Amino acid sequence: MRFFETVQHYFNDAADRLQLSDDLRRLLLTSEREVQVQVSLELDDRRLATFIGYRVQHNRARGPMKGGLRYHPEVDLDEVRALASLMTWKSALVEIPYGGAKGGIAVDPRALSRRELELITRKFVDGIHDLIGPDIDIPAPDMGTTAEVMAWFMNQYEKYHGFSPAAVTGKPVELHGLPGREEATGRGVGLLTVKLLSRLGRRPDKMRVAIQGFGNVGTHTAKFLQEAEMKVVAISDASGGYYRPEGIDVMNAVRYAVQRNGSLEGYPDAEPISNRELLELDVDVLIPAAIGGVITGSNAPRLKAGIVVEAANSPVDPTANAILEERGTIILPDILANAGGVTASYFEWAQNRQFYRWGLNRVRQELDRALGDAFERTWQYAQENKCSLRQAAYTIGVSRVSRATLLGGFV
Ligand code: NAD
Repeated sequence: MRFFETVQHYFNDAADRLQLSDDLRRLLLTSEREVQVQVSLELDDRRLATFIGYRVQHNRARGPMKGGLRYHPEVDLDEVRALASLMTWKSALVEIPYGGAKGGIAVDPRALSRRELELITRKFVDGIHDLIGPDIDIPAPDMGTTAEVMAWFMNQYEKYHGFSPAAVTGKPVELHGLPGREEATGRGVGLLTVKLLSRLGRRPDKMRVAIQGFGNVGTHTAKFLQEAEMKVVAISDASGGYYRPEGIDVMNAVRYAVQRNGSLEGYPDAEPISNRELLELDVDVLIPAAIGGVITGSNAPRLKAGIVVEAANSPVDPTANAILEERGTIILPDILANAGGVTASYFEWAQNRQFYRWGLNRVRQELDRALGDAFERTWQYAQENKCSLRQAAYTIGVSRVSRATLLGGFV
């Protein structure tokens, strides 16, 4: 199933609950703007390379559009469109004044030198700078992009528009970034996992967890959960999976990956397994934190985890979702589980506009409060309406966006 079909399926389920008209559904499912730009650059070996960059602006009924920038070889318009609409429902669910957007370039960033990565970023900004901005559409990091990429992005944007730190979030702390933004998505995933366990009457200590993806989100999730005394028994990245039933020393794995340019390849302190095997391990909690579409109708029947926390965007397709729900697996949906990133980005953007900044403790406190509120609201809705957490989260998000759309009018 294509990514947009997946998001559309979950949206339609919420729209049914809200009894939205077909006309309003069509409006809410249609992107406001979708652009595709040519990104051409001279590589280090003097060859000319041309890539395709995308920016999809989905909806701005509740505020400027917000969403990450992904560098990954499989980026295409369908994926970016799906991710942009997820951002709309996510921002509404955590009650921050944003609509949704997303962008990406179909490129493998690991195959580029640092200079090439900088050039590709600057060329992409050249292509879209007049369509984005602090009051229009604010990019942020996502898969394959980092705080450093955001610094280049801001610098290039400012060449056209002057001083504009609020044009992009997830910047380095030394360059108008926010302490705690980098850890925010993983911290949120960890915090919400612990909250979910507590609501289910389970203690986190000794719970076994497997995490797919060991980048920004996966590493910070693993650190948080290990501090909460959960046992991280498996981790993975694009190089494969690593399993240790007695528990992996997360900081040791992070240090190993940092020394090897971010890769866990050859990690010696655990047994090598495949990414497919990781998903099917006998664990209490499974956390996909890499790419989308990894849990489908074909592997869902073999999953053993009783709880799936969607740190990645759209990791579970509707067929798998139905199989898992039927079996009683609890799924914490992406638009709630990984909302820590956009929430911290909102803090960064708001403070950039006031030339003011919170310290790390305040950021963590406010982040935990915002996510805790969204979790409780979702949990209550699911209990009262006897539905899944995904149905609850989507229904709250879609309801807020549809209400804002109707209140704003169409003239
Ligand atoms: P990242 O680039 O920092 O890390 C991605 C990780 O996934 C790497 O370890 C990479 O090796 C691994 N990976 C890539 N392809 C894989 C494959 N086929 N199988 C297994 N592992 C693979 O990216 P990130 O920022 O950590 O993002 C991860 C997920 O979280 C994405 O779905 C992203 O949309 C979502 N997300 C990120 C943020 C954020 O703030 N960065 C916010 C919300 C959601």
